Amino acid sequence: MKYIRIIEENCSGCEECLSSCPFGAITIEDGIARIGDACNLCGACVDHCAFGAIEMEQSEEAIVSPPAQGGVWIFAEQRSGQLSGVVYELLGEGRKLADELDTPLCAVLLGHEVGKLTGDLIAHGADIVYLADHPELKDFRDEPYTAIIAQGVEEFEPEIFLFGATSTGRSLAPRLAGRLRTGLTADCTELSIAGEARLLEQTRPAWGGNIMATILCRRHRPQMASVRPKVMKRAIADTKRQGRIVELSLNAHQLTSRTRLLDYIPELIHSINIEEADIIVSGGRGLGDSKNFSLLEELASMLNGAVGASRAAVDSGWIPYRHQVGQTGKTVAPKLYIAVGISGAIQHLAGMQSADVIVAINKNADAPIFQVATYGIVGDLFEVIPALTAALKKEVS
Ligand SMILES: Cc1cc2nc3c(=O)[nH]c(=O)nc-3n(C[C@H](O)[C@H](O)[C@H](O)COP(=O)(O)OP(=O)(O)OC[C@H]3O[C@@H](n4cnc5c(N)ncnc54)[C@H](O)[C@@H]3O)c2cc1C
Repeated sequence: MKYIRIIEENCSGCEECLSSCPFGAITIEDGIARIGDACNLCGACVDHCAFGAIEMEQSEEAIVSPPAQGGVWIFAEQRSGQLSGVVYELLGEGRKLADELDTPLCAVLLGHEVGKLTGDLIAHGADIVYLADHPELKDFRDEPYTAIIAQGVEEFEPEIFLFGATSTGRSLAPRLAGRLRTGLTADCTELSIAGEARLLEQTRPAWGGNIMATILCRRHRPQMASVRPKVMKRAIADTKRQGRIVELSLNAHQLTSRTRLLDYIPELIHSINIEEADIIVSGGRGLGDSKNFSLLEELASMLNGAVGASRAAVDSGWIPYRHQVGQTGKTVAPKLYIAVGISGAIQHLAGMQSADVIVAINKNADAPIFQVATYGIVGDLFEVIPALTAALKKEVS
């Protein structure tokens, strides 16, 4: 538990702390600062007070000593016997955390006839693969997956458990966290270990992407976090690595489910998926109309790339959501990202900043997108894009 208190003898009543509190929880009464119920113990005022008059305390018993060798776990999501791309990124990040904690990295793999994937998981950094293989586990369903993994967690006591923020991960991780009575931080962009307490620092955008918040799970285990695809670096394979396979125990009760998968119909996407594309030509409100996306489609197809969009363009109904890049869209890391008529709001940048080369085309020279752009073209997109496409056509003809 955390406590905050005013050390009255140090307080000068200067009122400087009032502006430091984002929740308006501090008042001055009789020349002394008072902290009200709106306080959420963020600690901003503690650092702000020049007189050392605000103190935050933490009772020692609040911090749980995690089991020493429970390991760092990652969920090895697979579909139709193929590991999801984010699994390799979780293995890369998990390896880093496990090495720092001097504990094994473990992958949890559920499915049917998926034993062939264990070698790949070990080659990419797993020391142990916890495997549950059964016809009933062929396709992901919340109830059996949760029941089996929860039992594995209770038996082997991992310190940390990471998931990809895919549609499967977003369904499984919260249910599992609820079952295990622990916390879960979604969509982390950075993970690190804090000190001897072996706490996982889980950093993610907050307040509409305007600040980065670091979240700790002090009192419950495992510390659970999800990470969006393409945010962390992929692990590099080493086929000489050795690992162990441990079969998770299954019983008939765990395999029952109130849901049944009738069919799996992949989305019919005619264009290239933006998460996989090396080149993305992305359009924003500057395009002015849905029909103008055809300009970007033409350029993208010349470059063998995909078409992306800002949320403003998606919200206007000009292009489907699956093309949206950003905090509430997809995170992409292409070799080339061409931002056309996009201002560069922080929530858009959150999804594309790690592109190798960013080209911004905007008629406003002060648009924030130019601050992250490798190359900037100040001009009217309706002149620049046709000129670019024509130049490319000339090049290939
Ligand atoms: C919680 C939250 C989550 C969000 N998530 C996302 C997200 O995932 N992705 C996202 O994109 N946004 C997101 N947003 C919205 C974000 O804040 C911006 O509103 C949005 O990105 C703006 O889109 P835009 O750049 O296309 O539009 P605008 O900001 O309106 O910019 C349009 C740009 O086009 C330029 N322009 C206009 N005409 C031309 C022309 N003829 N030629 C060249 N340039 C031209 C203008 O100069 C301007 O810079 C989120 C917001 C919130 C609060």
